[in-house]
Amino acid sequence: ARLDSIIKESPDRIEAKCSVARSCGGCTLQSLDYSAELKLKQNKVENHLKRIGGFDLSNVEIEDIIGMEDPIRYRNKSQFPFGRKNGKNITGYFAGRTHSIVEFDDCIIGIEENKNVLKAVLDFMEKYDIPAYDEESGKGVVRHVLIRKGFATGELMVCIVINANSLPHSDKLVESLCSALGSDLKSVSININKKNTNVILGEKTVTLYGNGYIEDYIGDVKFRISPQSFYQVNPVQTKKLYSKALEYAALTGEETVWDMYCGIGTISLFLAKSAKFVYGVEIVDAAIQNARENAKLNNIENVKFFVGKAEEVITGEYENGNIRDIDVIVVDPPRKGLDKLAIDTMLKLLPKRIVYVSCDSSTLARDLKMLCEKEYELKKLTVVDQFSRSYHTESVCLLSRKDKAV
Ligand code: SAH
Repeated sequence: ARLDSIIKESPDRIEAKCSVARSCGGCTLQSLDYSAELKLKQNKVENHLKRIGGFDLSNVEIEDIIGMEDPIRYRNKSQFPFGRKNGKNITGYFAGRTHSIVEFDDCIIGIEENKNVLKAVLDFMEKYDIPAYDEESGKGVVRHVLIRKGFATGELMVCIVINANSLPHSDKLVESLCSALGSDLKSVSININKKNTNVILGEKTVTLYGNGYIEDYIGDVKFRISPQSFYQVNPVQTKKLYSKALEYAALTGEETVWDMYCGIGTISLFLAKSAKFVYGVEIVDAAIQNARENAKLNNIENVKFFVGKAEEVITGEYENGNIRDIDVIVVDPPRKGLDKLAIDTMLKLLPKRIVYVSCDSSTLARDLKMLCEKEYELKKLTVVDQFSRSYHTESVCLLSRKDKAV
């Protein structure tokens, strides 16, 4: 629905902190008081579990939603689209459900440095006459700028996504980014994406400056992150989320754990210190390379990572007789949730506990319904507010075998 006019204001309505809150497709809840947002999110997840999953939640230990202290400037990553308007290069964010750019120079859930980076890139494009990409004609060069910061280290990465094989005068861009960001800037790269697609990043990334990665910590585990790798966007809340996942996994040091959809190994390494052995599986090759480096970086030896589709890798390993006694499976799939094959194999492997980390409560509810048909029981649920001011929710659930103690 679209807001047409306000007849009677809700007691929870507040003045949005951002001037483009209504037109921008990013934060949909800027006009809602934050404590009401947290209630809304808790209700959304519970309702999905009831209505889609068919769960009676009276026997489930539902913990209070974990919110932020101050839901502002929390995102460690932003991807700004570039386009053209009235013959000028512009940037901002896409308006809701469209690809027209709402122009702005600051986003209050993003880092303050974004503004300087965007200015440096726009000035560079102007000076060297480099046009932004135009989706309709497929012409033009600069498509997106990806900016990432390690909150614990202060390190910054800038990646320019281009519709070309190289960026003319890129040395000048590196110079001006270095002078705008100083020694915190650890990586500048270009990513080549010449396809007519909504997918932001192409396959090839070329480093122009630095090592091609930044480093960051979650808790005391250090991570190396490249432009392509998935890395949770809200580091403050991520630590709380992973701590909850660790608590639900109830590790004593004796367990064999599988971390499916492991990204750069964040959850795997977070759990490895408390487990006997952790296996991680992830589809993006570059992320697994990072995961292996991250294990080395932290001297963690009781982990092994696989590249591939999680559902195919665990099914293959199961059918080859390589895996039998798994104590805990952690899954953290993308929004579309678990593949049916993954669920079928999990139900053959029958780990004692399943910890399901989910960024979409409707697919979570659908998947839990299948897992809880016969073998598992939904024991605990915590919603963690990872995406403050947007309607997206993150939750973590504990499932345990029906005939076994937690
Ligand atoms: N657990 C990680 C990443 C979670 S995001 C973290 O917390 O950082 C989901 C991840 O699933 C992404 O890294 C994505 O690349 C990966 N992915 C998507 N489909 C997959 C599949 N079929 N098999 C394995 N990994 C997949």
